Amino acid sequence: MISDLFQAKQKTTPTKPFVIAGPCSVETPEQLHETVSALYDRGIRVIRGGVWKPRTRPGSFEGVGAIALPWIQEVKLAFPIQFAVEVATAYHVEEALKAGIDILWIGARSTVNPFTVQEIAESLRGEEVPVLIKNPVNPDLSLWVGAVERIQRAGISQVAAVHRGFSNFRDKIHRNSPLWQIPIDFRTIFPEIPMLCDPSHISGKRDLVPNISQKALDLSFDGLLIESHINPDQAWSDAAQQLTPEDLAAMLNQLKSRKVHFEGEEKQLKLDEIRTQIDQADHDLLEAIHRRMILVEKIGEFKKLNNVAVLDMDRWKTILESRPQWASELSLNPSMIEEMFVLIHQESIKKQTEILDK
Ligand code: PEP
Ligand code: MN
Repeated sequence: MISDLFQAKQKTTPTKPFVIAGPCSVETPEQLHETVSALYDRGIRVIRGGVWKPRTRPGSFEGVGAIALPWIQEVKLAFPIQFAVEVATAYHVEEALKAGIDILWIGARSTVNPFTVQEIAESLRGEEVPVLIKNPVNPDLSLWVGAVERIQRAGISQVAAVHRGFSNFRDKIHRNSPLWQIPIDFRTIFPEIPMLCDPSHISGKRDLVPNISQKALDLSFDGLLIESHINPDQAWSDAAQQLTPEDLAAMLNQLKSRKVHFEGEEKQLKLDEIRTQIDQADHDLLEAIHRRMILVEKIGEFKKLNNVAVLDMDRWKTILESRPQWASELSLNPSMIEEMFVLIHQESIKKQTEILDK
């Protein structure tokens, strides 16, 4: 049940990941019943299903609409499950709550628009339903944070976040680039808010779903929101990324839940010891950068005195070639080191220019 998600947040050691699964869209009473039945048999107790679908282009399937709500009520009578539906307007909220929908979610195309989020927030005032908030389509952390604040200020206490990736240009692997640092930054702002991952919309194709799910667990996400359909290839929306209930169960079985904390003292001490050594290594790294910056100032003064230009392209070329090569010799990733030196070099030019202009 969804309350497990909010309670799990208080515990130190996560056991199994919390999972919400279900079709991208509710299509027919039969498709809904069969999908829920198959998921229920495999232990899923919280089901998702879109009723109103925000589609990028008009004319594609936009969800069956409010007629699906009685179908959901029926399936809830047949199975002891909770049901989550996407809402994008005050009308959706009103209809969903009237039909006894247990959980609402705000989709990526809504989170991006503060007017929409505010309208949803107003319609939720005085209600006690859990609300899941997907990240906005664009990689803007503030929009995501702002949406959470609007919903919280409307008095909703059970708010969870869903990482579903970000629209991209030229990412050939993902439908929506995961940009994992953004949900990590979100969690430093809201450590108490549970974070789910939606591997289906990040992947766009079912083969990639297990990999993204494991990555989310490795980053200690609190759970998964996954699309599953009784007959994925025939799905009316997002056919390529949905898993059969059978494949979903097999995948969940393969996932490894890794812990963040140890209850046993001894292992925790070992972990803390390695972290102390990492802190020391980082300190050494910063001191090395500090030493380099003092040399940058020294060379800046020298160039000023002798009327030498700040940038010597040949010298820069040598740096850009040699450092990644030295990195390879130390088994470091050369492209990471190249990026690092581009940053260091930018700072060096900035410092020397300041000295020259003084
Ligand atoms: C969905 O969950 O089916 C959906 C439309 O997702 P998103 O808002 O993440 O695109
Ligand atoms: Mn979908």
